[in-house]
Amino acid sequence: MDNLHISNHPLILHKITLLRDTHTEPKQFRELVRELAILLAYEATRDLSLRPQAVTTPMGLANGQRLEQKIGLVPILRAGLGMVEGIWEMMPHAEVWHMGFYRDERTLKPVAYYNRLPVGATVQLCLVLDPMLATGGSAVATVDILKQWGAQQIKYVGLIAAPEGVKRLQTAHPDVPIHVAVVDDHLNDIGYIVPGLGDAGDRQFGTG
Ligand code: URA
Repeated sequence: MDNLHISNHPLILHKITLLRDTHTEPKQFRELVRELAILLAYEATRDLSLRPQAVTTPMGLANGQRLEQKIGLVPILRAGLGMVEGIWEMMPHAEVWHMGFYRDERTLKPVAYYNRLPVGATVQLCLVLDPMLATGGSAVATVDILKQWGAQQIKYVGLIAAPEGVKRLQTAHPDVPIHVAVVDDHLNDIGYIVPGLGDAGDRQFGTG
């Protein structure tokens, strides 16, 4: 389906390889997640709308543009946290809303335990951030909540996806573009992406 955007940018592919490496320590892992998030968000925001705005330079008047849409960054706890800061630096006026789910290890279904959305819809574009699109359960649940809340446009930005997660998100929400660096082979029977990179939360935070 054409709402799946897989990056073929050499910088992204290089950094994903470093990220996967079992020898990569949490400090470098966090730096790579941050850098990859910026690069992928850059690609995902290529179609943001602009409004004209003249700007005075020391030499005269130039035709400029300003971003028109207000953006919400929606990290899915906890692995999505590492994707926020770099993107936020690129768009400091964005709002950040955290979504917390834990995965029931028996059913593999997401259970919501935290949702910090403002009362009314305040932005035009939401970027859902989660490095691993595995079963797709949390991503679908997050988009469900954002739509009920009134989000006008939603995009998913992740690092590595499983075909199963892509299919589930596309089926539930065909209008949500998916931006990832790579789609891997499969999910294993406990919901991990193979070959993937292991647990993206544990590898960022040094747990596990
Ligand atoms: N979450 C992770 O951190 N890794 C996976 O492989 C799947 C889900």
